[in-house]
Amino acid sequence: MNKLAKYQKKRDFLKTKEPKGKIGKSFKKLKFVVQHHIATKDHYDFRLEWEGVLKSWAVPKGPSYNSQEKRLAIEVEDHPLSYRNFEGVIPKGEYGAGPVMLWDEGTWDPITNVKEGFKNKIFKFTLNGKKLMGNWALIHMEEKQWLLIKEKDEFSNDIVDLTKYDKSIRTGRTMKEIIRDESNG
Ligand code: MN
Repeated sequence: MNKLAKYQKKRDFLKTKEPKGKIGKSFKKLKFVVQHHIATKDHYDFRLEWEGVLKSWAVPKGPSYNSQEKRLAIEVEDHPLSYRNFEGVIPKGEYGAGPVMLWDEGTWDPITNVKEGFKNKIFKFTLNGKKLMGNWALIHMEEKQWLLIKEKDEFSNDIVDLTKYDKSIRTGRTMKEIIRDESNG
């Protein structure tokens, strides 16, 4: 089955500017992206490239650099690789309506076996982003629920809340500016 079928079925590509997408070719280094998305609920979409798509989790509170903080991460449908370039506003009435900001991006490296990790209890990896760096773990709780946790390393610290870093990694825009630009354009 097309891994993007769920993604495509939820969206009307005549109305949203999100990419229709296709199964991509993998990059030499695996990419990751985090998108701040103010939809019905404010959340951070955490996406890891794997086998031509972006494996995706919605993290309501966003990631934390404090290794004591366990952040709920809800598994959502695979997204196309090209989604890593999407910043803009999903129109009213469409799935996920609201602004999307490219909050962080970079490459990632598995620490534990990826295939096992997605199926099993625990999956560890390194992020090489601008905001997110060092070692992280996704721990499977039940059904779609995971926990995203910073591992103790030279990058972990006491900063619990990263939402004060509120500008786009690509365009430097705030959410307000993204909304303003879209309504003028
Ligand atoms: Mn989202």
